[in-house]
Amino acid sequence: MSNFINQKIKLAVKEAEKISNKLEIDSYPVKIEDVAKSLGIKVAKMKFSKDEISGAIKMKGKDGQPVIVVNEDHCEHRQRFTIAHEIGHFMLHNISSMHVDSSDVYFRDANATSNTNNIKEIQANQFAAELLMPRNEMINDLSGKYKIKNNDDDLKTIAELAKKYNVSQQAMMIRIGSLVI
Ligand SMILES: [Zn+2]
Repeated sequence: MSNFINQKIKLAVKEAEKISNKLEIDSYPVKIEDVAKSLGIKVAKMKFSKDEISGAIKMKGKDGQPVIVVNEDHCEHRQRFTIAHEIGHFMLHNISSMHVDSSDVYFRDANATSNTNNIKEIQANQFAAELLMPRNEMINDLSGKYKIKNNDDDLKTIAELAKKYNVSQQAMMIRIGSLVI
């Protein structure tokens, strides 16, 4: 991973930490819609004509307030991740009017082509991961009650952790991978 991308990721993670501290988030799952509201962002759920659209952030909704719109046909886990991802764009990127995300952005990681847009998506993803599954809390979990033992119990542990943070098991596995390697 290049240093440049590394720095950008660190910046995104720090921003998420700042918000968690400021809002004194210490119970899980994180109430992500409340986090948006605390930052002055409305959250609206709606149907999109295209299923691959996961959500968007609009800097000025009808009443002039920023609004995140989420695809209501997607499952709760995806909606939560989308809201966190859009908050990331709001905090980190200078969105002029609107930014729309399709589902494929969630698969952009640091190995993706490093054009500017991809870096922004990677940052929003890392921001979302930190906000929903904070590093410190997760490290506590993984070194205590939810230890990964490299045996058959691990799938159960991952399922329990996913439940604690109200994220998909896939998202949890990726998160654990990024924390322990
Ligand atoms: Zn995005």
